[in-house]
Amino acid sequence: MITRSPSVLQSQESTHPDVTPLALQSAWQAQLSQAIRDPGELCRRLGLDGGWLPGAERGHSLFEVRVPEAFLSRMRPGDPQDPLLRQVLPLAAEGEVVRGYVSDPLAEADHTPGRGLIHKYAGRVLLIASPACAVNCRYCFRRHFPYGENTPSRTQWEDSLEYLRDDVSITEAILSGGDPLAASDRQLAWLAERLAAIPHLKRLRLHTRLPVVIPDRVDDALLHWLSTTRLQKVVVLHINHANEIDDAVAAACERLKGAGVTLLNQSVLLRGVNDSVETLANLSERLFEAGVLPYYLHVLDPVAGAAHFDVTDEEARELIAGLRGQLPGFLMPRLVREIPGEASKTPL
Ligand code: SF4
Repeated sequence: MITRSPSVLQSQESTHPDVTPLALQSAWQAQLSQAIRDPGELCRRLGLDGGWLPGAERGHSLFEVRVPEAFLSRMRPGDPQDPLLRQVLPLAAEGEVVRGYVSDPLAEADHTPGRGLIHKYAGRVLLIASPACAVNCRYCFRRHFPYGENTPSRTQWEDSLEYLRDDVSITEAILSGGDPLAASDRQLAWLAERLAAIPHLKRLRLHTRLPVVIPDRVDDALLHWLSTTRLQKVVVLHINHANEIDDAVAAACERLKGAGVTLLNQSVLLRGVNDSVETLANLSERLFEAGVLPYYLHVLDPVAGAAHFDVTDEEARELIAGLRGQLPGFLMPRLVREIPGEASKTPL
């Protein structure tokens, strides 16, 4: 079973200065620690009949279930086709071997110059800031990622920073994971301060789902270090369906914008979740209402265990054509695929 334990982070963090009031940290961390981790409880809480449980247990044995309460509360009880539930409900199909679906679909192992460091594209470097996620998405292309081998110690963080200092062509640091916001603000503030001290760095980008699944993550401690760094801030949220954006998520987006953050969204095109023109149009509209610009619509990365989410390229192109007929250009996400070895994402 794949386990991403927040405790890994906590042991790392103990070496960093405490700049965040503990009481503010604990609200979202408590929600994180209380997330549903048992497939039986997930089925029971949503009123699914017992027929779903064996499959859920089989999928869970391959990649553990994790669903925070705040995300669960937006699902329709008794509906196994709920688009939010489908993203997190383990299924027996995850155990099927499907040709072309592999453990490292983006060949990230070939672009790892140091522990917790991925350098694929010119000008930007990705740092694995946390091995943990607040939610385990069944289609995640990193569901088999060797987080244990890529969780840097403090010394290794210094090596990563040295790598960025030595390459003046790098202008953007991307915090990823797991979910970078699963790390404490104490650790993130420490990292942001050191990144800001690298003169050629212009931007700090975070790819996160935490403000969506636990909106309380956007608290004063987070906003403090975000609003005080000299770096330009971009937060790329990961939202696949309009139902994910309730009032609390919209308020979290508002707080991020107030801290000077540019908000973008990337989605994954998923069978049974958002594979209709109407659903994608609603998502773009709802994102914009919340102050977030649609950025990318990714086709599924062929990761082992996620083949049942696949939407063909032909269908994807038809969906985009239909969407173009409904939305203004600035609400159109770019349909892309990530191909290992390419210099950028590839438009379809
Ligand atoms: S939050 Fe992101 S990294 Fe974590 S499981 Fe979901 S898609 Fe993967």
